[in-house]
Amino acid sequence: MNPTDVVAKALKKSQQVVVLTGAGISAESGIPTFRGEEGYWTVGSTVYRPMEMATQEAYSAMPEEVWRWYLHRRKVCRGVGPNAAHRALANLEEGLGDRFTLVTQNVDGLHIQAGNSLQRTYQIHGNIDYMRCAAACSNRIVPIPVPFSGDASFIDSLRCEQCHRPARPHILWFDECYSETLYRFESSIRAAQEAALLVIIGTSAQTNLPNQMVSLCARGGAAIIDINIEDNAFAAVAQQCGVALRGKATLHLPALVETIIAAAKS
Ligand code: NAD
Ligand code: ZN
Repeated sequence: MNPTDVVAKALKKSQQVVVLTGAGISAESGIPTFRGEEGYWTVGSTVYRPMEMATQEAYSAMPEEVWRWYLHRRKVCRGVGPNAAHRALANLEEGLGDRFTLVTQNVDGLHIQAGNSLQRTYQIHGNIDYMRCAAACSNRIVPIPVPFSGDASFIDSLRCEQCHRPARPHILWFDECYSETLYRFESSIRAAQEAALLVIIGTSAQTNLPNQMVSLCARGGAAIIDINIEDNAFAAVAQQCGVALRGKATLHLPALVETIIAAAKS
């Protein structure tokens, strides 16, 4: 089926559109995904992979280095801006209003910068500009107060405002669990259950909640469109109940958004 037919058929049945994004949508803005060597981080003579750095275990063993890594990545994120694919999703929210939900694994904040609302954007892995109490004295999430310096004294200023114990990045680490309060877990599940159309962009299908969402959508009869430069497990599902579009997000998404907005109006 072609994308226009998939969208027209899906939006006749019901109205909710859910978009699920991963690191691939920000790759064209210049933010490395977790799959290339650009994501690696060296401490002394040891080279760590992102899946080792982004853990509670690493933070407990070397909090200063984990903070250094996040402040470096935050600097990369703040040095770039949203691309045409991010902007297309902001247009989609404007066109669909309450019929739109964006679930993003990205921590770079570019969807919000492009114009998507915080209310309809579930940042299920956190946001690299924010921190919270590492001892969890509360769930308060606050902006990171320091600039991007690599200076060793910075870590001392990254403290919980309430109990003055160390703060941690507001990021869901690989050895932690989702929650509604911090990461909108149940809201994302509910959105998947209610979706008539799921659009997946730039994710390698390796994290838990996105996998659950795609299964729920497929079982619930939603149409699924996957956009990715490579084959992945979600593309295989999309081929069964929608369409897999091979290529960059900026190539396919602007036209797909126009198709969805036109179908939703008709
Ligand atoms: P991933 O790095 O595992 O996979 C990226 C996917 O994007 C791949 O399937 C790749 O083929 C695809 N891709 C690359 N360039 C693309 C493009 N131009 N258009 C379309 N697709 C493209 O990323 P993931 O699946 O999001 O999950 C890994 C974890 O990495 C997540 O937890 C996420 O929080 C974290 N992460 C986030 C960022 C960010 O915020 N920008 C960056 C790196 C990693
Ligand atoms: Zn505290």
